[in-house]
Amino acid sequence: MMLKNAHIAIIGAGPAGLTAAYELTRHGYTPQVLEKGERVGGISRTEVYKGYHFDIGGHRFYTKVDEISRLWHEVMGEDFLKVPRLSRILYDGKFYRYPLQLRDTVFKLGMVESALILWSYLRAQVNPYPVEDTFEQYVVNRFGRRLYDRFFRIYTEKVWGIPCSQIRADWAAQRIKGLSMVSAVRNALFNTNGGDVKSLIEEFHYPPLGPGMMWEQFRTIIEARGASVQTGIDVREISLDGKRVSHIVTRHDGETTTQPVDALINSMALRQLIDRIDPAPPPVVIDAAHRLQYRDFIMVCLIVDAPNLFPDNWLYIHSPQVRVGRVQNFKNWSSAMLPDPTKTSIGMEYFCSKGDDLWSMADADLLALAATEMQQLGLASASMVEDGTVVRQLRAYPTYDEHYMQNVGVIRHYLDDITNLQTIGRNGLHRYNNQDHSMLTGMLAARNLMGESHDLWSVNTERSYYEEFATTAKQPAPTAPLSEDADAGVDVQAVADTAREQPSAHNQ
Ligand SMILES: Cc1cc2nc3c(=O)[nH]c(=O)nc-3n(C[C@H](O)[C@H](O)[C@H](O)COP(=O)(O)OP(=O)(O)OC[C@H]3O[C@@H](n4cnc5c(N)ncnc54)[C@H](O)[C@@H]3O)c2cc1C
Repeated sequence: MMLKNAHIAIIGAGPAGLTAAYELTRHGYTPQVLEKGERVGGISRTEVYKGYHFDIGGHRFYTKVDEISRLWHEVMGEDFLKVPRLSRILYDGKFYRYPLQLRDTVFKLGMVESALILWSYLRAQVNPYPVEDTFEQYVVNRFGRRLYDRFFRIYTEKVWGIPCSQIRADWAAQRIKGLSMVSAVRNALFNTNGGDVKSLIEEFHYPPLGPGMMWEQFRTIIEARGASVQTGIDVREISLDGKRVSHIVTRHDGETTTQPVDALINSMALRQLIDRIDPAPPPVVIDAAHRLQYRDFIMVCLIVDAPNLFPDNWLYIHSPQVRVGRVQNFKNWSSAMLPDPTKTSIGMEYFCSKGDDLWSMADADLLALAATEMQQLGLASASMVEDGTVVRQLRAYPTYDEHYMQNVGVIRHYLDDITNLQTIGRNGLHRYNNQDHSMLTGMLAARNLMGESHDLWSVNTERSYYEEFATTAKQPAPTAPLSEDADAGVDVQAVADTAREQPSAHNQ
């Protein structure tokens, strides 16, 4: 158990780092949060351009972890909006209700295409892939090739930039687990999702000024309790003395500072973490870290001179003719996101990789591309765009490629030996976590410092673990082998989400 006056440093003021700090300050500790960016919130921050607020993506607040839900409400109080959800898939010029509604889908696909999808499904049942190593094999076995080609493949490949045959099945497994064509049709016909699932699909929580409002509020509370949250601080080096972190080296405004630490909680990406450890980890660990892949992300925010463009919170763009993957309509998340109700602000989301043509495109060209594609999709004329801005987000998605588990395993094995270092969060564990699970790892890391014993790597590998978390927090965490991992939100598509228990990772 850490002494109350111990110097606990936390790298990153995203949801995970701030939750660790919140939990520690709740128990009288005064950690120091060090954030490289100028804002708190990490990927869940809110950016502001000329009074227009926008997310990096769109961040729904939904969780099955009671303790996290309570925390959100405690921090946001009355301000936490309940937002009705409407999202549709735009494919082949038609809008498909999402989650899928059988009649709507069959009507729009037409009887012939629907029959072909059914036929393809039956063929997959008679002659399935004998192994399900890849995303493609997993989905084709459950839905048939034709539906996979129409709805799963195109969007998923836009998100990841690699063929579905190279994406591991475990990325899909957790969220589509238990789902098949039969269950999707049964749900659509008989509405058997059940109240809980239905309600989560139909509404979510959201702070009026975007998710960043939550994280600013966390910061205020943490600082009021005597701890510090410093922005613009880059942690450059983590120095070991044997099996312990002895001090860290930070850089701020060109100045380098060295400070001793008693315990360190990290939420920066594993690849960066390994590169900053001194003395350098063994070559095999560095090699594993360098093999971890990430997918980057660009949000092009367009301010359009029209009060209403479409009723959805967001649209999934499955059409292969355009490069945009999803379109957010921030007004439909919260009207307070816009300073002028006669306008609409649209977030055009592009999945990319640093250095590729999209990433390297000049902002002006990205704005022009987004306006053209918005028009191509029939959402508004490009000439109605008044202004806009571009935000690039590195490492938005940890990639579940075919080797990531081995690589994470090697890194984990090495880090487990460093006695006063814990790594948390989405990229800090290379796990495709939403805010709630990122936060949960931060909360548990804090509790580990207070004498509890939680295995952070197992959060969100076993649903039962976090569902039971609130009542069994004192129990040691079950250790799920890494190979059983796969929360992997499937940024995919409608059919799966009809029976999915989690908010769609489509949404990420
Ligand atoms: C497009 C998109 C949409 C999403 N939608 C949803 C959603 O609808 N609902 C939901 O719950 N979740 C959603 N998520 C997931 C959510 O964003 C993440 O789960 C969450 O932000 C992860 O929190 P984190 O603290 O682990 O990491 P991050 O948010 O990445 O925070 C890590 C922080 O560490 C800082 N840092 C890194 N290196 C250093 C360093 N060397 N020194 C100091 N600081 C450093 C970074 O600047 C960053 O602020 C979405 C994600 C994306 C990409």
